Amino acid sequence: MSTTPVSFEFFPPNTPVGADKLRTVVQDLAAVKPEFFSVTYGAGGTTRERTLDTVKAIATMGHEAAPHLSCVGSTEASIAEILATYREQGIRRIVALRGDLPSGTATAGEFRYASELVEFIRRTQGDDWFIEVAAYPEYHPQQRYARRDLEHFANKVGAGANSAITQFFYNPDAYFHFVDEVHKLGVKVPIVPGIMPIHSYAKIAQFAARDGIEIPRWVALKMEGFMDDAASVRAFGIEVVTRLCERLIAGGAPGLHFYTLNQSSLALEISRRLGLAQAS
Ligand code: FAD
Repeated sequence: MSTTPVSFEFFPPNTPVGADKLRTVVQDLAAVKPEFFSVTYGAGGTTRERTLDTVKAIATMGHEAAPHLSCVGSTEASIAEILATYREQGIRRIVALRGDLPSGTATAGEFRYASELVEFIRRTQGDDWFIEVAAYPEYHPQQRYARRDLEHFANKVGAGANSAITQFFYNPDAYFHFVDEVHKLGVKVPIVPGIMPIHSYAKIAQFAARDGIEIPRWVALKMEGFMDDAASVRAFGIEVVTRLCERLIAGGAPGLHFYTLNQSSLALEISRRLGLAQAS
């Protein structure tokens, strides 16, 4: 079996049925022996309790769980309180983000950028936390100047991040170029590609349009041609994403972080094809 480290990302379920289903998904994905499972956080604290409950549930099952934490709209006191709660649970890995407040929401808060959250955690908690930050191989959608985005990323890592996870992408050249560029700026931490299996092409196309991610034309046209043929979308999506992962691993990517959308089947199948999990 391959030794590429893997992690899986979930969103916190909002019903007891969803929470039960997620436990099964965690059990399925445990076959890949992931380094950790991460759980997203609604900007402005909208999922504060549910993120905590999901992280606790995963930890209770014997796996490392890393909460995401976004800082926009938050005060230092509220962030300190959340960190203290996680600390009590023995959690020491966190994905530190700025987040996005829904438009029209008040932006009052003491943090403007994720780098300030990283700096705050290091200043108040020392080296106890393993801090992950976000990276954007195709650049952050709100940033017009690629160069500035790279510099802001390098500063964020310089504030004390241990590792980075990228936004999803389907063009490996974007990832390799980003890694080369930030290495030149002195970034030495691992930059783990974020991998989005294609559960529903319509949904992925919507995310990509929102987040400024390019779906290669040959993939888009073929997927659109499948229309409602879910089996063909699934088969082609697995092929495209597996090949992407193979190229990333061959090119030296330090791991893979799967955006699961709380489903195990595609991430598991791709992991098996990559030799990261045994075939069932
Ligand atoms: P930052 O690193 O702060 O960057 C945001 C923007 O500000 C960029 O355009 C950057 O160039 C610019 N910038 C940074 N520093 C400066 C500066 N000093 N001066 C001027 N401009 C600056 N969102 C959630 O709400 N919850 C989640 O759980 C979540 N998980 C995520 C996980 C991953 C792996 C990724 C890639 C994204 C995730 N997001 C999540 C989305 C993320 O919150 C948004 O993309 C958000 O817009 C940016 O967050 P950031 O931490 O990357 O911000």
